[in-house]
Amino acid sequence: MTVAQPDALNFDCETGNYHTFCPISCVAWLYQKIEDSFFLVIGTKTCGYFLQNAMGVMIFAEPRYAMAELEEGDISAQLNDYEELKRLCLQIKRDRNPSVIVWIGTCTTEIIKMDLEGLAPKLEAEIGIPIVVARANGLDYAFTQGEDTVLAAMAARCPSKVDNEAEKAERNAIQRLLSFGRKQEEVAQESSEYVDHPPLVLFGSLPDPVVTQLTLELKKQGIKVSGWLPAKRYTELPILEEGYYVCGVNPFLSRTATALMRRRKCKLIGAPFPIGPDGTRAWIEKICSVFGVEPQGLADREQQIWASLEDYLKLIRGKSIFFMGDNLLEVSLARFLIRCGMTCPEIGIPYMDKRYQGAELALLEQTCQEMGVPLPRIVEKPDNYNQIQRIYELQPDLVITGMAHANPLEARGINTKWSVEFTFAQIHGFTNARDILELVTRPLRRNLALKDLGWDKLVKEEARV
Ligand code: SF4
Repeated sequence: MTVAQPDALNFDCETGNYHTFCPISCVAWLYQKIEDSFFLVIGTKTCGYFLQNAMGVMIFAEPRYAMAELEEGDISAQLNDYEELKRLCLQIKRDRNPSVIVWIGTCTTEIIKMDLEGLAPKLEAEIGIPIVVARANGLDYAFTQGEDTVLAAMAARCPSKVDNEAEKAERNAIQRLLSFGRKQEEVAQESSEYVDHPPLVLFGSLPDPVVTQLTLELKKQGIKVSGWLPAKRYTELPILEEGYYVCGVNPFLSRTATALMRRRKCKLIGAPFPIGPDGTRAWIEKICSVFGVEPQGLADREQQIWASLEDYLKLIRGKSIFFMGDNLLEVSLARFLIRCGMTCPEIGIPYMDKRYQGAELALLEQTCQEMGVPLPRIVEKPDNYNQIQRIYELQPDLVITGMAHANPLEARGINTKWSVEFTFAQIHGFTNARDILELVTRPLRRNLALKDLGWDKLVKEEARV
């Protein structure tokens, strides 16, 4: 019997009963990225316990984050929210003197309707430090979307008009870094190599080496990156004027994209995300096409990267992968892995913005057609219980999942990869494609090495009473 393959992507939505990190976890990478920031999470011990455990060894490194733990008196409004927060923020100012304090609203502040957005401007004026409010709570968002709420709030803080060219240059930290140690004339000569195009600002928090790599990739095409949101320091947030072009590097930044378009009147370049050599090439090509630039040497570059990945590709070609879904990187990773020769029956994802991810979805569809594999089913707000039943039926070669299910599945003979590592590893750009495959193939390599021991299933099939 032949089963007709659907020719368009199939979207489903389940119950939202799934495991993921709380979005307040974004403080873990954002305080490291924005060096002069301090993150204050206003919540309960529940939030504190989560952060303390999820951040692992980082909590011993005097992180620039803290919990403002709400007490009974705060919840019953016997204490004055404003005075309490003022006391804490003054202490932070005295001890750490940051350039910005980011308040992270939590489930509790939502439920008791603490007016953080209203309190912040007053307190900001009183203590003289900018206070940015992001409601990154578990009621509304999942994991990486926490960064999205923080960046959307920061987009409002980017300066809009800077008259003097010197300050403009000063704010463009990445260009300063690229021309570090060069003479004035050399820099001037180099800037003439850029094509004349409207300013471009990229958004998404990436480790500094990846920021430099992507900036240099665009530079090779003559495209100048005027700034990144976020920058290394809060005081270096990029200038955003009406009509600037913006482009995202991560699939979970849809609110930031909306804030940039609606509030800052920027033009969004909707491109696939620079994950995997295919995604990176498509991302650069899309930016080039918007600025009317003919991309140079990209096909060769992509080919070289694929050739260098062959040892890993051999391991995964023809294998199937199942994404349970918890960090919103799933569609981009699946698209890359299908291009690597894998099949993917299901992509679970916490939230799907079909407009912001439009170009990525189109590339996924095109990739499946070109590789001759069935289109995956995309399950928004998945139900982990149902997914486990489907995993039993499908018996995929690899399941990308959270820590809650990883060991139980392994014990039942199903290979798993812990999904959170994809958020912390460097996965963007041409050169980091290897790192993605290193992660994906690790469980396969390990289980291959241990296969002869005959211990692949450690749970009794049926419990006998
Ligand atoms: S889900 Fe809500 S209560 Fe739980 S850690 Fe996150 S913000 Fe705190």
